[in-house]
Amino acid sequence: MRLSRYFLPILKENPKEAEIVSHRLMLRAGLIRQESAGIYAWLPAGLRILNKVSAIIREEQNRSGAIELLMPTIQSADLWRESGRYDAYGDEMLRIKDRGDRDMLYGPTNEEMITEIFRAYVKSYKDLPLNLYHIQWKFRDERRPRFGVMRSREFLMKDAYSFDLDFEGAKAAYNRMFVAYLRTFSRLGIKVIPMRADTGPIGGELSHEFIILAETGESQVFCDRAYLGLPVPGPDTDFDDDAQIADIVTRWTTPYAATDEMHDEAAWSKLNGADQLAARGIEVGHIFHFGTKYSEPMGAKVTGPDGKDHPVSMGSYGIGPSRVIAAIIEASHDENGIIWPKAVAPFGAGIINMKPGDAGCDAVSMKVYEALTNAGLEPLLDDTDDRPGAKFATMDLIGLPIQVIIGPRGVLAGEVEVKNRATGERQTLSTEAAINMLA
Ligand code: ATP
Ligand code: MG
Ligand code: MG
Ligand code: MG
Repeated sequence: MRLSRYFLPILKENPKEAEIVSHRLMLRAGLIRQESAGIYAWLPAGLRILNKVSAIIREEQNRSGAIELLMPTIQSADLWRESGRYDAYGDEMLRIKDRGDRDMLYGPTNEEMITEIFRAYVKSYKDLPLNLYHIQWKFRDERRPRFGVMRSREFLMKDAYSFDLDFEGAKAAYNRMFVAYLRTFSRLGIKVIPMRADTGPIGGELSHEFIILAETGESQVFCDRAYLGLPVPGPDTDFDDDAQIADIVTRWTTPYAATDEMHDEAAWSKLNGADQLAARGIEVGHIFHFGTKYSEPMGAKVTGPDGKDHPVSMGSYGIGPSRVIAAIIEASHDENGIIWPKAVAPFGAGIINMKPGDAGCDAVSMKVYEALTNAGLEPLLDDTDDRPGAKFATMDLIGLPIQVIIGPRGVLAGEVEVKNRATGERQTLSTEAAINMLA
């Protein structure tokens, strides 16, 4: 992409409404724009990031055996009356009437709808296990939308729903998602800790929130420092091997980790003082086993091997890609701007042509641009007339992992400068060597 032909509306000033760094940087870097309280437009560079994050989530969901579909954002209230949640859900639900005066709503989540789809088609245990997911916009009329897309009213969610004959099957499904989440967040370049979370009236142990530690987090969390060094399961993880998956879950649930609501002072006090990590955290994912909470009232049953009908045992598994992006920035920035992990950067490299119009600079810039494009790096070439200082500031602000700087003096010597955004390290190399190193 050439910046002169792109739409990247950078803000020079710090927006006053932004209280935390990720919100400030997302606005300044031209990623999002607020259209109403808690409702955001994703500008082109922001959309590229959102798509990259979603693609990684999708790959890991698929790898674990989940199957993608797409459900609508607008749902019928009648569906929610079946589960009893239409009245129970409260003010976070945006309720709408259509022209026929029918009660509709903008989905805050999809348990009811997926249960309706399941019961329409699946009748036998032989079709299980089944895990269906989608990546779709949700609406929750949050009491206090704030921090930009971190807590917005409209937000993207990946939500998966598992269906099994019995608890044992449901637990295996839960474990697969647990491991898929470890892989997903690690690929997104962030360190998450799965923490015991509240299961509400359902009870049981199968609820974990995946938390990123950050000072601006809204939850108080408590965990063992051991989590910071645990190895993440690799791409060769066999999701068909229940025992292998269960082992990984055991390893990742043995050290102490709990959110405020589940915190157990007695267990916590047994930890070595130096291992105790009490911190603020951001919930980026949540997995939850709820058994027959929806299948029972909604009549989602399958015939078991015993020839009898059983309400299916279910779980749901959410990740908020839009919140994840804000959380990545909270964890990865400096005073000059964002530092994107490679996997989610909107462009793989930035090329700064310091003097557009100079034949040498233009030729070298295009050469580097084409080489990096052919290598699949999706570079962004700053070919605008801005002053060099402004170009450097923009490149640092938008946080692409690598910058290639091309100026008239270097061009005469056959050299370009390569800067690593994360470390600030700069190298002067021949154009060829730079291309070979990056492409
Ligand atoms: P919170 O405790 O922050 O209100 P939640 O527990 O209500 O979140 P879940 O119902 O567990 O959220 O939804 C799954 C995921 O969706 C969350 O882990 C989070 O990543 C994302 N999410 C939930 N609410 C929002 C929101 N208002 N804005 C952005 N992402 C959200
Ligand atoms: Mg909530
Ligand atoms: Mg929560
Ligand atoms: Mg939650």
